[in-house]
Amino acid sequence: MKITPTLAVFDSYNVHSRTELSLQINGFKSELKLSESNTIAYMPLINSHDHLVGNWYPRAADHRPYLNSHIWVEDMKDAAPYKERDIFWLNKGFHDLTLDNGFKMAQMGAYKNLFSGCAVVQDHIPTQSNKYYDGMPIEVIRHYGQYHSMTLGNWWGGMSAEEELQQSSGRYPFIMHLGEGLDENTRDEFRQAMERGLIRENTILIHGISLVKHELDEIVQHDATICWCPFSNDFLIGKSMDIDYAIKAGVNIIIGTDSSMSGSINMFEELAFIRTHYPHIPMNRIYDMVTVKAAQALHLNIDWRLSEQTPHILLTDMSADDPFENLALLKPENIKLMIYHGKPLYGDAKFFEIIGLSKSNYSIVSTKAGEKFVIGNPLALNHEIDSYLGYHKDFPYLPF
Ligand SMILES: [Zn+2]
Repeated sequence: MKITPTLAVFDSYNVHSRTELSLQINGFKSELKLSESNTIAYMPLINSHDHLVGNWYPRAADHRPYLNSHIWVEDMKDAAPYKERDIFWLNKGFHDLTLDNGFKMAQMGAYKNLFSGCAVVQDHIPTQSNKYYDGMPIEVIRHYGQYHSMTLGNWWGGMSAEEELQQSSGRYPFIMHLGEGLDENTRDEFRQAMERGLIRENTILIHGISLVKHELDEIVQHDATICWCPFSNDFLIGKSMDIDYAIKAGVNIIIGTDSSMSGSINMFEELAFIRTHYPHIPMNRIYDMVTVKAAQALHLNIDWRLSEQTPHILLTDMSADDPFENLALLKPENIKLMIYHGKPLYGDAKFFEIIGLSKSNYSIVSTKAGEKFVIGNPLALNHEIDSYLGYHKDFPYLPF
């Protein structure tokens, strides 16, 4: 597939070249028409699994590979990055993160997502107050049922799996970790989940490393979804889900980064990792998993395709002839403009002037590719973390 070096507008099924695209900004049909050369327009990406407060760095895993993630969870608590993070976030639990710096730590995690093209993220923790979700620079999904895992239960808060599922049925996704390991206990999690009736069409299972073929077939029969986090799985456990069989069997598959305490630095690194380690999976299929498929599984009720007057866009540099292959080459500084629901989130500073954005809601950051505007002030957030630590903390997902 070949596209001309003008603005390329495409979804996961049809690729076509465009010379112009109009934007819908803040609810108004904008006169702004884009016709940038060497540029690709995507729909913004969706990260289907993260723990926003966990986006510290470097990764906290001194004794990998682990037999299962529950051993890692305990081991992580002794790791230096985990302790360093908790100088900033006192880590009094997940009950209400707006009561302490957990809120700001989660905002930092949301910026990780923003700078890698994700306008939407699923933050897998017990549900928080509206203040939490309203205070994020991108959409952090607020309606979902959740359970930590079959093995550890809802240790971090929330109701029983059955209650969480019942409350979300027919309306929202029900999300839990499952099969994140290789041992007997982890392998038994799917059987337990089936017995308890937890595998339904709105169920999203995170990881699924231990799942064998007949279990993947059962997931297809129940129309449930698996969120694949290959970087994190490879790093912690040394193995990820049987992706080839899952695709062949027709499992609904979406993709998550997990937190940077175990996973990739951001969605761009996740996509590059997939390109390198699973070169036989076409990148248009992967794009589908981080856009259309994710929107469906997370019940976003948005047609996740670009339209003539689009209120959602991820406009990036074009470094590969194939627009889908281009996804694996992107870095935060390659984003030219990102808009979600008509709200500009991030982009080249020139658009700040062209669109006429209010200075009070945005800040300007300096990246390798020049100045960019961004919603809110992630630089100030970084400074605030520095003041707690007494030295500068570098977060590799920040482009400045
Ligand atoms: Zn997780």
